[in-house]
Amino acid sequence: MSEHGDDVLIHTEAWWIRALEDALTPEEARQWAAHRARCADCQREWDAMRHVERWLQAPPAVPALPELFTAQTVARATQRLQRQRWWMSFAATLMVGLVTWFVLSSLGMAVVHLERLIQTLLIGWQPLLGSLTRALMGLSLVWRDVLPLVAGGIVGCVVLLMPNGVIATAMLVWLARRRAPAQSA
Ligand SMILES: [Zn+2]
Repeated sequence: MSEHGDDVLIHTEAWWIRALEDALTPEEARQWAAHRARCADCQREWDAMRHVERWLQAPPAVPALPELFTAQTVARATQRLQRQRWWMSFAATLMVGLVTWFVLSSLGMAVVHLERLIQTLLIGWQPLLGSLTRALMGLSLVWRDVLPLVAGGIVGCVVLLMPNGVIATAMLVWLARRRAPAQSA
């Protein structure tokens, strides 16, 4: 078995590093395999290094734990997670409830305020209107000449009470006053 020309190069550290990093060209890989076939030292060292490399590259083994401990840990973690979730949902429900209650109560308060306002207006207006109507009716029965004034007063009341119909009422009053001289003439 003659000494090969490339053996000097193959025995350098640079070659070995490239071989371990799979950085050899196809031709160099062929030379490397041929060399190991005839060089027992290189083959033995190569096998050992590959073995160490595989061991180093393998993911670290998970340390074995007692089965009970693992089960307890998992159960505890699950319980903690469930408690956390329960609190989260509870807090969310509470928040939604508070917001809903706040909105509804605000709305309710607004409605109550509006109702009170309407009631106050109605209670305040009703006796006034009643007495006014009664007084006007009495006046119309006594003095028939005052009837146009009573009618005018009622129209005025309607105008005052119905601001939306002010323009329409004004138009009616204006038309009635325009027609009155024509009828009397
Ligand atoms: Zn060798």
